[in-house]
Amino acid sequence: MYQFVIYTLYITIIGLFAVCVFTLTKWGGMVHTYLFFYCVSNLVYNIGYINLLHTKDLTTYVNALKLGYFGRLWVGLSMALFIAELCGKAYPAIIKAAVGIFNMIVYFFILNLESTRLYYKTMEFKMVGDFPTLPHSGGPIYYVYTSLNLIYAILCIVLIVQAYFREKNATAKKRDLMLLLSIIALVSTYVIYFFKLLEIARIFDIMIVGYAVCTAFMLIAIVRYKMLDTTTAAKNYVVDELSEGIIVVDNEEKVRYYNKPAQKLFPQLYENEKSEEAIQKLLNDFNSSIASGEPVRMSGRIYTPRANPLTDEDMRIGTLYSLSDDTEHYRYMDELREQKQIADSANEAKSQFLANMSHEIRTPINAVLGFNEMISRECEKVKDEKIEKSPTVSESLENISTFSANIEGAGNNLLSIINDILDLSKIEAGKMELVEGEYSLASLLRDVNGMITFRASEKELEFITDVDDTLPDKLYGDMVRVRQVITNILTNAVKYTDSGNVKLIVRAEKDSDIKAGNILNLTVTVTDTGIGIRPEDMKKLFGSFERLELKRNSTIEGTGLGLSISHQLVSMMGGNITVNSEYGSGSTFVITIPQKISSAEPVGNFNINTGNTDNQKKPYRVSFSATDAVILVVDDSIVNLRVAKALLRDTGLIIDTADSGNKALELTLKKKYDLILMDQRMPNMDGTEAMNSIRSQQDGLNIDTPVICMTADAIIGSKEKYINSGFDDYLSKPVKSAELEQTLIKYLPDEKIEKS
Ligand code: ADP
Repeated sequence: MYQFVIYTLYITIIGLFAVCVFTLTKWGGMVHTYLFFYCVSNLVYNIGYINLLHTKDLTTYVNALKLGYFGRLWVGLSMALFIAELCGKAYPAIIKAAVGIFNMIVYFFILNLESTRLYYKTMEFKMVGDFPTLPHSGGPIYYVYTSLNLIYAILCIVLIVQAYFREKNATAKKRDLMLLLSIIALVSTYVIYFFKLLEIARIFDIMIVGYAVCTAFMLIAIVRYKMLDTTTAAKNYVVDELSEGIIVVDNEEKVRYYNKPAQKLFPQLYENEKSEEAIQKLLNDFNSSIASGEPVRMSGRIYTPRANPLTDEDMRIGTLYSLSDDTEHYRYMDELREQKQIADSANEAKSQFLANMSHEIRTPINAVLGFNEMISRECEKVKDEKIEKSPTVSESLENISTFSANIEGAGNNLLSIINDILDLSKIEAGKMELVEGEYSLASLLRDVNGMITFRASEKELEFITDVDDTLPDKLYGDMVRVRQVITNILTNAVKYTDSGNVKLIVRAEKDSDIKAGNILNLTVTVTDTGIGIRPEDMKKLFGSFERLELKRNSTIEGTGLGLSISHQLVSMMGGNITVNSEYGSGSTFVITIPQKISSAEPVGNFNINTGNTDNQKKPYRVSFSATDAVILVVDDSIVNLRVAKALLRDTGLIIDTADSGNKALELTLKKKYDLILMDQRMPNMDGTEAMNSIRSQQDGLNIDTPVICMTADAIIGSKEKYINSGFDDYLSKPVKSAELEQTLIKYLPDEKIEKS
């Protein structure tokens, strides 16, 4: 018997050693770690026990017992941890730590077995046959420790039974059964050991047999049912190490699996294992978050849930929910959104400021140019008077004419700067839109020609034009913008050339098929013999507010916006601008703009230089008189009202004025007007509101009176905006007297007009 026990112990030790090596070679996660821990402690326990069986007195027995306990103390705990891990559960770290500390305390009492008497209250050494024994009565620590081991075993049984019922896979079920058997064997031995139910339990520590049987069953589970299949273990390990939380539910929405991150995120998964309500709520939250696209926010973090169907041979067996922690991503997006909002509102503020500034500057310029026009008219009137004038008076009159022309030039220059700034801000805000329509290339080139011939002649430059006469005349595109770009490049050529010539060549790109509906790549080449551009300045050329060689060009007016705007406009139209320049000799700008051909009819023998190049200001002549017609001018600025009255003085019109929308409403109730000129931006009631109110006045006398919007809101597109909102026509401030008179002729009753 004695020998049999010794041999059995040796076999157990070899078996445990084999499992230790096995787990070490196939290590794949916590489950292997706990199994290794279990086998090592069991190994130490067995070695200690063999040692003990060779003792012959109390002292050597107790020493061997101390060695054995060094392993035995940890066997129950490591087994409990191993089984829990295997069943996909984990004990809270604090409990693990508490039990570990308790074990160490127990070991302290075992080391002082003889002096403290708290583990064994009494003990005596006795030989029963060949077996050395130590009959004892347990102390309090002994009972706590033994009960704890029993609790471990019961917990293991509960976990295995749960796993068995949860598991669907048949092999896994068998594995669980085998594990259950191993633990039941252990518990039975415990009971026998504790209550000394068998005689042998009095002479022999049968716990060692219990653990040996338990280990044997575990080995069967490991080998036969691939309990520690490395792939599965590795998969489990990988799934647990994922940053994503994973929860698997079956078709009845019962949770079948969750990985560690999911367990951390949702304690309700294991705390409320039985509370289907809590789990159902969780799944509902996931589903509604997936449906709405809104992430789940929990404990300061943001998760994106996804649901993937799980199928087995085309049969739906459940759903896999995965939750990725996208907090950083969302934070980054929030930050970006915030930054964008700040940038947008700054941009919005800038655009608003520019629009206001443009409006506010246009209003005084309206007065400056309007009264300047009056000065010029008065001057011309006196010049025309057939009376004798002294040389000083004649000279003064000439000077006044020149000064007035200068004021007009400077005023118009200021306007074009404001227009450039507005254009740039619109482009930057992405609000620039092309207004496309059919236009005549010939008339566009004639306009440009008129302007540039005049400027070139002022600087005594030759302006040469060469337009391919086979080019189609009717094109479809944004005429205003095409003209703006060509004018800008030509104006620069004249500005930056002191002598020689400026040449404009207009062609279609080679091999163009000129047919209605086709796209024509219009190529406009502008060559000058000017100052040229340094190679190192080339890349700065199209930047906003970039002016090159400031010292050299300090006397030349400019903002550095023209090329930037032109470049961006051409890009918007799908074309490009290229530059070739030799510093000191001149530059060549080539603009290519794709435009749709509306009709293939050619511009013909189009000699651009025969166009109207007479840009000299003609003396003012009133274009009509209408002494019977009555008009109302509405503007909150008294100066603007005066300007309008002054500009129309020579027409003989009867002009009433109103400085607010309300005043206008009062007047329109009392008097029938032939026409109303309405400012848009006024306090309290703006022009559009006033117009609408006049048109809906009960018993109103002016329901059908034409209302013309006269505003400093002069951005491109404004005309369409105001006409669409109900005005009959639109005039931009500063208003030009010729344009104003033409509009009045169009809308005043014919019988009241006498054209001159
Ligand atoms: P600006 O209002 O200053 O003319 P632009 O944007 O039109 O602004 O031009 C930017 C700069 O490019 C000018 O200041 C000038 O230095 C240079 N530039 C433009 N066109 C020419 C040219 N034809 N010859 C020489 N330099 C030019």
